[in-house]
Amino acid sequence: MNESAEALWQSCLDIIRDNVSVQSFRTWFEPLEAVNFQTEGELRKLTVKLPSRFYYEWLEEHYFALLRKTLTKVLGPNGRLYYDIVIERLDDGDASMLLPPRPQSYAPPSRQPGPGAAESRPVLAFGEPVESRAVDCRLNATYTFENFIEGDCNRLARSAALAIAESPGSTAFNPFLIYGGVGLGKTHLVHAIGNRIRARIGDRAILYTSSDRFTNEFLSALQHNRAREFSQFYRGIDVLIIDDVQFFGRKEKTQEEFFHIFNDLHQIGKQIVLSADRPPRDIEGIEDRLLSRFQWGLTADLQPPGLETRMAILNRKASDDGIEFPPEVIEFIAHNVKSNIRELEGALIRLLAHATLHDEEINLAMAKEILKDLIMESRVSLTIDQIQAIVCEYFDLDQDLVRAKTRKREVVQARQLAMYFSKQLTHHSLKTIGLQFGGRDHSTVIHANRTVNDHLETDPKYREMVQSLRQQLDLRSR
Ligand code: ADP
Ligand code: MG
Repeated sequence: MNESAEALWQSCLDIIRDNVSVQSFRTWFEPLEAVNFQTEGELRKLTVKLPSRFYYEWLEEHYFALLRKTLTKVLGPNGRLYYDIVIERLDDGDASMLLPPRPQSYAPPSRQPGPGAAESRPVLAFGEPVESRAVDCRLNATYTFENFIEGDCNRLARSAALAIAESPGSTAFNPFLIYGGVGLGKTHLVHAIGNRIRARIGDRAILYTSSDRFTNEFLSALQHNRAREFSQFYRGIDVLIIDDVQFFGRKEKTQEEFFHIFNDLHQIGKQIVLSADRPPRDIEGIEDRLLSRFQWGLTADLQPPGLETRMAILNRKASDDGIEFPPEVIEFIAHNVKSNIRELEGALIRLLAHATLHDEEINLAMAKEILKDLIMESRVSLTIDQIQAIVCEYFDLDQDLVRAKTRKREVVQARQLAMYFSKQLTHHSLKTIGLQFGGRDHSTVIHANRTVNDHLETDPKYREMVQSLRQQLDLRSR
């Protein structure tokens, strides 16, 4: 191995690290290894090893400019980066390539031959009679890539999911774990992987299940002395998709069974796809050895969608349903419903239901009325602490003061307002609010609220101030 290649790449990594998120760095750059450095005439050529062609595509598409800049900084204007793609060595001899140009087309790598990978035998569905030939994959056909809208919030997860669907088991993403909050598209995406594989490679045994269902079936198998059958069934799966693995938390026996199934499948190149509602390390009661398995492949998160993606999703859903929603209604919903995609859908459905029921035309006024409570709820996204911080910033006070004992006039005013907004904008009880203001009593909160309301009624200047403060809070809520 070439020492200076490593050192040069290290300098590149130092620059890259400062320019991308921690997650991206870990996913896309940390696994790369410098293998060679050579000068050839004017050119200074650094070669790094990539785990798969997908890495090449991804780096090209997303980090081209950054890599260019970095190379120029580290190697000078004649610096060139070469890729050595590991897996494809098998089927295309000339794997090193220059950046750019980008190849016009690319065939997904064929599966690496491995024990058990060659045959694709039909598998028995667990608990079904022996005659049954195919696995019931339990996939929901309505969740596809075609109707999964891409946005910044899901780009990495979606691209990786696509890559896996193209060549299950033979990307570096095994297992593939998607995590993110409720209603952000985890279930949709894992089904999309399964559906795509099913459409492309019909004879694969694909199974979608939830960790809950897995657990229940396992426990019932134990009860009925069918644990062996259970374990054999799962070992025959080619693509195992398990949704919501956070529910494996604290279920030791089930985890142990899953651990062994995981190992066996992984070893023979079967694809494992998992989802969780939080990063794996935050799931309580998961054994370390299982956690470490989760991290073998790729972990990608789904973030709440930004405004543009929300609009795109709404437009798409509306047109899929064959309904015309005026653009201002779509905009109104997109602006106000921010937390997740399920709520966006819910808003559309509610409007539609109302319009049909009362035989009314959908318009902005109706949307505002019908979605009133949804929008109020979605406002409740600030914590008491954030409210204190924003109010104190507004008055240019130190945040500690509203929790301290001081009775200076300006502090008292800020404290009262922060209490008032905490009551208005959060679901916390008076008691909880009081506690967060330096352990004050709930009656203090009541008093603060009354005072603010009194001023609001009598003092126009004060009213103006409260309004502009409210705007600040609205702006900062999510
Ligand atoms: P999760 O499993 O993360 O709670 P789901 O996959 O059930 O979320 O998604 C909730 C709803 O939002 C589903 O109806 C799904 O089709 C839809 N959805 C989520 N993400 C997208 C997206 N990017 N494009 C279109 N629809 C989406
Ligand atoms: Mg789900």
